[in-house]
Amino acid sequence: MSFIEISKQNYFHNLSVLSDKLGTKERLAVVLKDNAYGHGLQIMAKLSSEYGIKRVIVRTSDEAKQIESYFDSIIILAPTAYEENHPKFQFVINDLSQIEQLPTAAKVHLKIDTGMHRNGITVDEIETAYKRIVKNQLVIEAVMTHYRSADELSSELFWQQQIWEKVKQQILHLTIQYNIKKPLFHSANSATLLRVTEYKDDFARCGIATFGYHQMPLSYKIPTLKPVLSLWAEKISTRTLKTGQRVGYGGMFTAQKDMQVSTYDIGYGDGFFRYKNQDKFLGKLSMDSCSIEGDAQKISILKDAQEIANHFDTISYDILTKLSPNLKRVIVD
Ligand SMILES: *Cc1c(COP(=O)(O)O)cnc(C)c1O
Repeated sequence: MSFIEISKQNYFHNLSVLSDKLGTKERLAVVLKDNAYGHGLQIMAKLSSEYGIKRVIVRTSDEAKQIESYFDSIIILAPTAYEENHPKFQFVINDLSQIEQLPTAAKVHLKIDTGMHRNGITVDEIETAYKRIVKNQLVIEAVMTHYRSADELSSELFWQQQIWEKVKQQILHLTIQYNIKKPLFHSANSATLLRVTEYKDDFARCGIATFGYHQMPLSYKIPTLKPVLSLWAEKISTRTLKTGQRVGYGGMFTAQKDMQVSTYDIGYGDGFFRYKNQDKFLGKLSMDSCSIEGDAQKISILKDAQEIANHFDTISYDILTKLSPNLKRVIVD
């Protein structure tokens, strides 16, 4: 059966590059949302915990429940109106209306919209939010923001950072006014951490870089990251194509000579894009199989998601997250 290999060595390499930049492992929170960007939630949680990561970020409580035994704090990016409190879970507040929905005593991360205009409360709503959070007896564990353009060759990151610095001052004043514990601050994703010379907040939230990719313009000097995932397929059958015979749907590939062709057990039903790489795939990919010259038992299908992303004019995230959760995942050293 087709399967995914997870390179422990490459994963630990990436985590070390990022921790070095931060000074300590404790300042690195890893983002394991969406099945750990297609790598496999359980497996990546286990490896992160083995490396010494203490704080992880997921999208839903369902994801958090699957990995709760590995970590003490799990941050949930998109809590619903029906969350129950849990000693290890911490909920991101994306909108004022969530304050009344979250269970009493829940730990929260208040998200501030400093310019991305996707989620989070506006700067003008901060005072109201504090009042309502205190009234509803939630615990402000952290205050956070998200940058929209860290991976672009522009100064946009810097005006957003200026707004963020002002927000932090305001939060410190409110902390004194309400006589509550000073919250942690966090803002960086992978791109921000890779880009800035010194990151000042308490921890960074890294996803894609931990898996070995970034989208930074070439002019930024970025340390080498190594792809963690590779995708492999196994042979189902082999045949000889005679000159002129055509293979697969529509017969899109015609043998120019007598040649040996094998069918492998990967297709777009496994979440692998219908990739038209003529050098590799003969004709069209099927739902569960593809044709490749030769008769090797096992064949590498994907080693570098960026290469495929470029082909489809998309980003590595898009290629990785679509890989079927049903593919078997194995750790290799
Ligand atoms: C997904 C996500 C991240 C991680 O982003 P990468 O670019 O993969 O490092 C960080 N913060 C938030 C709020 C996110 O949604």
